[in-house]
Amino acid sequence: MPSDKAKQNKALTATCVACNKPVSTESAVALTGVEDGRHKQYVACNACANGGWRPPGFVGLYAFRRE
Ligand SMILES: [Zn+2]
Repeated sequence: MPSDKAKQNKALTATCVACNKPVSTESAVALTGVEDGRHKQYVACNACANGGWRPPGFVGLYAFRRE
């Protein structure tokens, strides 16, 4: 189920936090981690996410794509 945050991000491109490349949100996922005790979303391209990259305090993964 899409979150409000996902709707805000729906346009276009983001920067992968793992490899620092611009990626379309259609080929990226948002991973939820924890920073300073708060949940924070990190955008990673599918390649990095599939390759095992996880943010600090990883708690879950959210795919932008709706299927
Ligand atoms: Zn990447």
